[in-house]
Amino acid sequence: MNSIKTISKSPEPTEKDIALEAERLFGKGLGDLGYSEDDLRRCAELTWKINILKKEKRAVIPAHVYQRAEILHGVADFIGDSYKLARLCQKSPAERIIFCGVRFMAETAKILNPEKEVLLPAPQAGCSLSESISGEDVRKLRAEHPGAPVATYINTSAEVKAESDVIVTSANAPKILSKLFEAHKKIIFLPDELMGKNLAKALNKKIGAEIILWKGRCIVHENFDASSIDYYRKIYPGVKILAHSECSPGLVSVVDLVGGTGDMMRYVEKTKAPYYMLITECGLGDLARTEFPDKVFVPMCRLCPHMRATDLKSILRALEDPQPSSVIEVPKEIAERAKKPIEKMFEMAEDAVKL
Ligand code: SF4
Repeated sequence: MNSIKTISKSPEPTEKDIALEAERLFGKGLGDLGYSEDDLRRCAELTWKINILKKEKRAVIPAHVYQRAEILHGVADFIGDSYKLARLCQKSPAERIIFCGVRFMAETAKILNPEKEVLLPAPQAGCSLSESISGEDVRKLRAEHPGAPVATYINTSAEVKAESDVIVTSANAPKILSKLFEAHKKIIFLPDELMGKNLAKALNKKIGAEIILWKGRCIVHENFDASSIDYYRKIYPGVKILAHSECSPGLVSVVDLVGGTGDMMRYVEKTKAPYYMLITECGLGDLARTEFPDKVFVPMCRLCPHMRATDLKSILRALEDPQPSSVIEVPKEIAERAKKPIEKMFEMAEDAVKL
């Protein structure tokens, strides 16, 4: 594979190019999300350049659903949750992956595609869950609970994945954990404590005895609470309230659906309600508003600083002049060990998640 290291600038767009590109972005629904004409022109200049360079560099741009709307609608080749992006990166023939998301996602892409160059435009984009636990912590837990399999949420580093038996996502965790409980009396679930509590309740398992949890939290979802739900149900009669499974058990117990971002989008697509409230990162609400322009969404979201770290300028830089800190490397030995529990997830959950 050719190295991406040499700087290769995009040509400059003409006024006409920018106007046409801004029109394309407007047609994708960005105007409805509050982008002004100036915003659209500023984005258009960058998306035009990125889309030219992307082809020239034989790169693909996967983007998580929490990314900014101008990324999702302007330059992304595919959009999805962690699971879907991991799967589609694996199937892509591109030579380079410019990952619009956070570090653990880009690492997962690298583990599954060791021969491809994987770049994270915002190298500082981490995740509070991923950073809550190390490989050493997992080894200690295993020693304390011998024989208990380790089911690890995908929001973890390559090092932690390498110490795990199976990886799970918010969408397939109930199914995979149920299967593990068929063969084991006790399992270790890492690192999201709130999701673990929700799973324990759904599967009727005792925390501390049958399911061992870690203390990780998502800084976005841990801050939603149930106190205003009754109020919203009164002022928006018939509203369907959907919450991410990283939210607290108190909140999860009073909503209409709990699940991952893919579950939430499918629910909106398949149901007919006067209003929807998506309790998660704001990017999903924006995506839902552009995908389902005839449906009404009640705002209730928070921004993830890690997800917002990527912008069009950083994507262009990753293509034109990638910094060493943006290049994702996973040591071979860790990557090989981390790949096994990811493949175990594919094997155990493939029929549970629709791409
Ligand atoms: S929303 Fe939460 S889980 Fe997702 S990247 Fe941000 S901190 Fe991590």
